[in-house]
Amino acid sequence: MSLPLPPRPAIYEILDDRFRTGKCTNGDQQLEKLYEGCRWAEGPVYLPAWRQLIWSDIPNDRMLRWDEQTGAVSLFRSPAGHSNGNTLDLQGRLISCEQGNRRVTRTEHDGSVTVLADRFEGKRLNSPNDSTVRSDGSIWFSDPDFGITSDYEGHRAEPEIGGCNVYRVDPATGEVRIVADGFGGPNGLVFSADESRLYVSDTRAGHIRVFDVREDGTTLSDGKVFTECRPEKGRFDNIRFDDGGRLWVAALGDGVHCYDPDGTLLGRIVMPETVSNIAFGGPKNNRLFITANTSLYSLVMAVTGVPRIRR
Ligand code: MG
Repeated sequence: MSLPLPPRPAIYEILDDRFRTGKCTNGDQQLEKLYEGCRWAEGPVYLPAWRQLIWSDIPNDRMLRWDEQTGAVSLFRSPAGHSNGNTLDLQGRLISCEQGNRRVTRTEHDGSVTVLADRFEGKRLNSPNDSTVRSDGSIWFSDPDFGITSDYEGHRAEPEIGGCNVYRVDPATGEVRIVADGFGGPNGLVFSADESRLYVSDTRAGHIRVFDVREDGTTLSDGKVFTECRPEKGRFDNIRFDDGGRLWVAALGDGVHCYDPDGTLLGRIVMPETVSNIAFGGPKNNRLFITANTSLYSLVMAVTGVPRIRR
């Protein structure tokens, strides 16, 4: 005799058959909620050496830490400069975008914090949101004004720079340079696996732009629109690649989107809360961690994140 099972809502919505044939839907069939109790969660990053995940609870000005082996959640850092996006550099050190302190920092192995960028040409940054690391050790980050428009996710202030740009921090000199501009609100950014392209979401514009990385590895060609978000459905936040070259994108208000490299929306993960950020992790790098509104979720997937240290 089989026990009656409660109905479960489908978590995958197939919008293009490649979402199914690419085995994007063959993993967990239900979400795991790992934690709830944030005010607005963002910035998950998995630390393979410690089998832990660190993420930001921005309005509460704290960073939390989830332990994969025990499930325990504890405080990692508070105050945290209203940190938003987090990633790891090539040495596995934590890189954090601190909206409240208007800077990008690196947490050293001894626990001290080094400021990587807080100004451009003498003017304070707006409120760094997210960063990614290239194989040459350079840090690329977005600088929208989301953290200075109110006191909710930072500290209300007038912008000094007068634009929302993407910057590169040189690994040798520490020089901070604009690599892309003309954004409404630049947000998540990630390189393609071969680092020939940089993808940047623009939350206010409702699209993702893609740029070719020039041969020097330090500058970008003019960007073009890679894809638009579904009209009136959601807005893009951060982006991660799987090993099939597909882009998984946190779409505020519309779950997690999956795009073919040609820009087609293949399908999505339907979420019970508003998604902010995603990150692959776990020992096999096939566990998708999802911050959504007050909670942290995960989904063990049939696809695997790009096996690079930055994620
Ligand atoms: Mg973001």
